[in-house]
Amino acid sequence: MGEYRLRIAHLYPDVMNIYGDRGNIIALRYRCESRGIGVEVVDVNVGDAFDPAAFDILVMGGGQDREQRRIAGDLVERGAGIRAAVEDGLPVLAVCGGFQMFGHRYVDQDGGAIPGIGVFDLETRHPGPRADRCIGDVVLATEFGDVVGFENHGGRTYLAPGQQPFGTVKRGFGNNAKDGGEGARHKNAIGTYLHGSLLPKNPAIADELILAALRRRCGEEATLPPLDDASELAAHGAATTVAARRAREGVKG
Ligand code: GLN
Repeated sequence: MGEYRLRIAHLYPDVMNIYGDRGNIIALRYRCESRGIGVEVVDVNVGDAFDPAAFDILVMGGGQDREQRRIAGDLVERGAGIRAAVEDGLPVLAVCGGFQMFGHRYVDQDGGAIPGIGVFDLETRHPGPRADRCIGDVVLATEFGDVVGFENHGGRTYLAPGQQPFGTVKRGFGNNAKDGGEGARHKNAIGTYLHGSLLPKNPAIADELILAALRRRCGEEATLPPLDDASELAAHGAATTVAARRAREGVKG
């Protein structure tokens, strides 16, 4: 696989990067290079030149309302290009505040509407500064198996009819602590509230993004040799055990 080189765009790494989100880039690089797949990670900050069509994977982390406001104008200018690349199969991982901004808009805790780019058919509304945040361990049921992580968000996300969630909540709050859905999926784009970071403890998701990128670039016959995921799966197991124990102890969220 030495001849393949995947280009990963990391959107706003200086601003939208909390609760270890940069770990998703590290996990993608490790899982590619361990298979002899070259990786180039390009940081894309406000004002930087960026052509989504020239990339194989796009990653965006989370951030507080203030940070989301800071990058919103720049992201919206790039919206059409990102939507076109996603329709063409670009794999995406958008986490928490990034996930919210890949929807149509986020009405923040002060009632201000922060525009999004509408990759996912959803919107997010913050119930106000006095509302509890959705904080804690999360276990999801997804088509990739159980996914574990950590959430910390004030906003509540509502999917439009027909918009597929990423998973269903087994433990935690999820999109809005009511309908049991978590995140969103559209083609090869994944949106989720799960920090932690997500990919190191959920190698199946990382491989899904890498395989989708390889198949988009090299053809449907592309495959990925397995890796020894003993550490990753041990971390996954430990997170699942902690989440279950806290559930038994009645720890909220
Ligand atoms: N600012 C958003 C919220 O509070 C997202 C937070 C985050 O990215 N962790 O809902």
